[in-house]
Amino acid sequence: MSGDVNPFESLQEQIDDAAAYVDVDSDVLERLKRPERVLETTLSVEMDDGSIEVFTAFRSQFNGDRGPYKGGIRYHPNVSRDEVKALSGWMVYKCATVDIPYGGGKGGIVIDPREYSLSELERVTRSYAKELRPLIGPDRDIPAPDVNTGQREMNWIKDTYETLENTTAPGTVTGKAPTSGGSAGRVEATGRSVMLTAREAFEFLGKTASEATVAVQGFGNAGSVAARLIDEELGANVVAVSDSSGAIHQPDGLDVADAKDHKKETGQLAGYPGASEELTNEELLTMDVDLLIPAALENAIDREIAQRVSADVIVEAANGPLTPNADDVLTDRDVAVFPDILANAGGVTVSYFEWVQNRQRFYWTEQRVNEELERVVTEAFDTLTDTYEETDVPNYRTAAYVTAIERVANAADEAGVFP
Ligand code: NAD
Repeated sequence: MSGDVNPFESLQEQIDDAAAYVDVDSDVLERLKRPERVLETTLSVEMDDGSIEVFTAFRSQFNGDRGPYKGGIRYHPNVSRDEVKALSGWMVYKCATVDIPYGGGKGGIVIDPREYSLSELERVTRSYAKELRPLIGPDRDIPAPDVNTGQREMNWIKDTYETLENTTAPGTVTGKAPTSGGSAGRVEATGRSVMLTAREAFEFLGKTASEATVAVQGFGNAGSVAARLIDEELGANVVAVSDSSGAIHQPDGLDVADAKDHKKETGQLAGYPGASEELTNEELLTMDVDLLIPAALENAIDREIAQRVSADVIVEAANGPLTPNADDVLTDRDVAVFPDILANAGGVTVSYFEWVQNRQRFYWTEQRVNEELERVVTEAFDTLTDTYEETDVPNYRTAAYVTAIERVANAADEAGVFP
């Protein structure tokens, strides 16, 4: 990965690229490029041996003009203030792209969760939730899972908030377990929107998805579900997948569910017996496939790798997986890149459905969730391709930002400036 690219600068560059095609005042635009506020806090947490360890944690609230701040919480050693700011901004434009009534937020703790016991992780999470409490709530800011967090962490945050507020407020966080107020279909939602975007993209480009070969970088929540649904629902041939242990390749098509079982049992994809060979992650990114899905972390594809990408279509499951330079190279090379703010928006869209269900105390079937998600993604895809065809934007990402920036700018304009 290209660690020298600052994701916050990438976000600002993406906004500037699209701004050339929208009629927004420069002072409004300046506001839409920066977070409204960022919390940086030091958590002091007792370890199992009685010692105290400190952790740096953040929460960025980027823009709330279209609704409460919304966005995930990441546990990773590389979490930084600028990464959290960038991710919170991408949430603003993602929610606007799929037109759900949220602003954008993001949080993170600088931690490698693999080095801590379950009880230590619970205390770290509850300590973080205590710091977040004044900022979050069903009408203020609604956290959700991101890298290395899931239902377990969301349940702890919800319980901490509810205990301190002496209330029940399941809509404080989304991505909870179904028994704690989570929605059917939430775990699969991000991978499902990646699959739906790939389906629509192939149809739009006049290509046949069932004949496509596919490589997926990153085999966590987003990547593994996307790989399985692309295999099962589109009938495409997933020939390679990877995680941080490396990539596995099977030209005849991998049994994705079996590879996932292997990862569950051994903790990694490497060593999977159903693969014909093992590759490096870089080899996976440059494989000759029809569809490449980066589903790991940001900046996975830099300018140099972009020059060697052989796929015709990229659907971004991860947030910010291409550096701006890589984006330029791929645009010049006519590789069709369908952006993160559409493709992985299934996660936040079903989070929105979860929040609606929490507020109504009325729960939907998985079928209803999946149908509503399909409607949201296909409508957003159509809006994106209409913008692409009606303006002379250079690529699909800029087309998505044009619509998203207009929506956020209109809401900001209607709200006016206080005081
Ligand atoms: P996750 O922790 O479940 O999975 C991440 C995967 O990436 C793991 O398999 C890990 O081994 C792999 N990985 C890490 N570094 C790698 C490397 N250098 N090469 C190859 N693989 C590597 O996380 P996730 O929730 O699946 O999130 C992945 C991406 O999708 C992130 O960018 C996240 O922001 C984005 N995303 C996730 C959701 C969601 O609902 N989970 C929603 C929207 C966007």
